[in-house]
Amino acid sequence: MRKIEHIGIAVKDLEKSNELYSKLLNTKPYKLEEVESEGVKTSFFQVGESKIELLESSKEDSAIAKFISKKGEGIHHIAYDVEDIYKEMERLKEEGFILLNTEPKKGADNKLVCFLHPKSAGGVLVELCQEIK
Ligand code: ZN
Repeated sequence: MRKIEHIGIAVKDLEKSNELYSKLLNTKPYKLEEVESEGVKTSFFQVGESKIELLESSKEDSAIAKFISKKGEGIHHIAYDVEDIYKEMERLKEEGFILLNTEPKKGADNKLVCFLHPKSAGGVLVELCQEIK
């Protein structure tokens, strides 16, 4: 793990939250992106070398919709930047972490991603991400 790549925050209304975070961080989102396979609309804010990812559900039964109905808006996941996602997945699997996907998948912001089950990671949903070169 090289650094915290971003923190994912679940929101109900992306447009409203973009306004709020634009004021908070004093910068506009540099990217808006819909990931249809995940049922989410996202926006990204650069904060120094890390980012904030806002996630709004675009489908009724998406992971974000379920998260918000259980816990409300708030921090959803922590994403770590990794150099080699395959290697890191292998290492974490051997350490006993539960990987939510067996192969990395294409995430937002030009990344290969893999999630670790919060049950195996101290109650925190962990995302590994590797820049697609
Ligand atoms: Zn993320």
